[in-house]
Amino acid sequence: MAIAHIHIGTNQGDLIANLKLAIGKLGSKGTILDQSHVYETEAWGKQDQPNFYNMALAFETKLDPYGLLALVNEIENQLGRVRSEKWGERIIDLDIITYDDKVICDEKLTIPHKHMADRNFVLVPMIELAGEWLHPTLNKTIDELYVECHDRCEVILIDTTI
Ligand code: ADP
Ligand code: MG
Repeated sequence: MAIAHIHIGTNQGDLIANLKLAIGKLGSKGTILDQSHVYETEAWGKQDQPNFYNMALAFETKLDPYGLLALVNEIENQLGRVRSEKWGERIIDLDIITYDDKVICDEKLTIPHKHMADRNFVLVPMIELAGEWLHPTLNKTIDELYVECHDRCEVILIDTTI
């Protein structure tokens, strides 16, 4: 068994319903050990689109990293994600942020996620779940990465339970 952290983002349709559906589908294929609160953020990179809701999960899985990537891609497809422009609107985006302490960097998969240290909307929910987790190549904890992060995007806690 491995423990992965998965980040979920959505900015189309019923955002809370999208998050719930994605969590339900993941939960039927492994164990959700923990989940962060939901946060609202402005769209990153391309701002003329609705705000995102983001959250992170700790997920226990029997799948290897590539099997987990296939699962998250399948769930994105089941929820109706259409891949269009880079950083465009999306009904659901499921990214693998960590997988134990594994380091992978190839054309299909980068673990830890290659942008995790640059984005408040990834770091803030991750702090709730794994602030002391040590990034295996940057050699800093998530708490430390957040303190050093230059991202100025606001990440606002949403008062809701999922
Ligand atoms: P992004 O999440 O960067 O906005 P996409 O969700 O469209 O963009 O993902 C593009 C590709 O990123 C996917 O086809 C997938 O193979 C690849 N990828 C590489 N590393 C990861 C990871 N850690 N988690 C999810 N996808 C990843
Ligand atoms: Mg993605």
